[in-house]
Amino acid sequence: MSRFFSEKYIDLEPYVPGEQPRNQQYVKLNTNENPYPPLPEVTKAVEEASRKLYLYSDTECVDLRKALARRLEISPDELLMTNGSDEILNFAFMAFCDKHTPAYFADITYGFYPVFAAINRVPYETIPLRDDLTINIADYYHKAGTIFIANPNAPTAIALRAREIEEILKRNPYNVVIVDEAYVDFGAESCVPLIRKYDNLLVTQTFSKSRSMAGARLGMGIGNPELIRDLNTVKYSTNPYNVNSLTAAAGVASLKNDEYNRENSLKIMDTRDQYGRKLRELGFEMTESQANFFFARHPEIPGEELYLELKKRGVLIRHFNAERIKDYNRITIGTPEQMDRLVEEIKAILEDRK
Ligand code: PMP
Repeated sequence: MSRFFSEKYIDLEPYVPGEQPRNQQYVKLNTNENPYPPLPEVTKAVEEASRKLYLYSDTECVDLRKALARRLEISPDELLMTNGSDEILNFAFMAFCDKHTPAYFADITYGFYPVFAAINRVPYETIPLRDDLTINIADYYHKAGTIFIANPNAPTAIALRAREIEEILKRNPYNVVIVDEAYVDFGAESCVPLIRKYDNLLVTQTFSKSRSMAGARLGMGIGNPELIRDLNTVKYSTNPYNVNSLTAAAGVASLKNDEYNRENSLKIMDTRDQYGRKLRELGFEMTESQANFFFARHPEIPGEELYLELKKRGVLIRHFNAERIKDYNRITIGTPEQMDRLVEEIKAILEDRK
């Protein structure tokens, strides 16, 4: 730390993203990216947009919001585009939390929530998941602040039904409830159809997972126009050009053939079924995944050891040190070929331990 670092950030513990190794070719199953690249039309749209790089990007993302609103069957004024969904989540902490309006989220959930709370000096309370890592919705009734729920949850991969989230919304009419749907396209139910019924609902989604655009950084907030206006106030006070023009063009092109994205999600769900069975046959215990990753533990191998052994053998998965989940690993669902390699290496590791 330099002697100039602001006192207000001295205790800040930044978020630790998954490794993005440059030194070696790994089978990369550690950051929940989509294993299928975007269509050539997306690349072409980026190339075309690059000719206009001398101009600032459209602060309102008009074309993108129009296309997305059509796709989600909502109106463009119910949408705000951001630099990844991380940005909309940060905006939500800025807009809807303060020292009198704390944040509430699960003890095991997306690791960025406590960091956003810390940088915005928002107090927060964590709500423990049950022993089986599911959410007890009654724990979220009548809270005194803003609620953040990742659905499906990460890293557990477990989803709530939309009607369960509706119970939480009904019992928090004076609080904003943020439903982080980063992984919703892999089989869970979206809460987007509820935004007109509940003016306290903000849904966040991303192009990073089901639309194969993690590197482009494109996310969104979906909610009542008044909530969106508040979020825009924050956006225009921090970074009006938060979505660059290449990313916006890629987003529009991606939506032109959203069927392709949908098919890839179905392929990933199919791979999930197939390799979930194989991993269980090898002795893994895992949650019921409704996301593009497994959350799994093996009774014979400590979580960290499996992660390190696989890394030595060229397969990267994600391990978390938090006490409650240290036996587990989060494993992104890749192509069947990548998953074959994972299974092969796990078999070899298990064999070596005999
Ligand atoms: N929410 C959850 C639950 C996530 O796991 C992630 C991805 N790490 C995000 C939000 C943010 O994703 P992005 O910023 O790429 O949209």
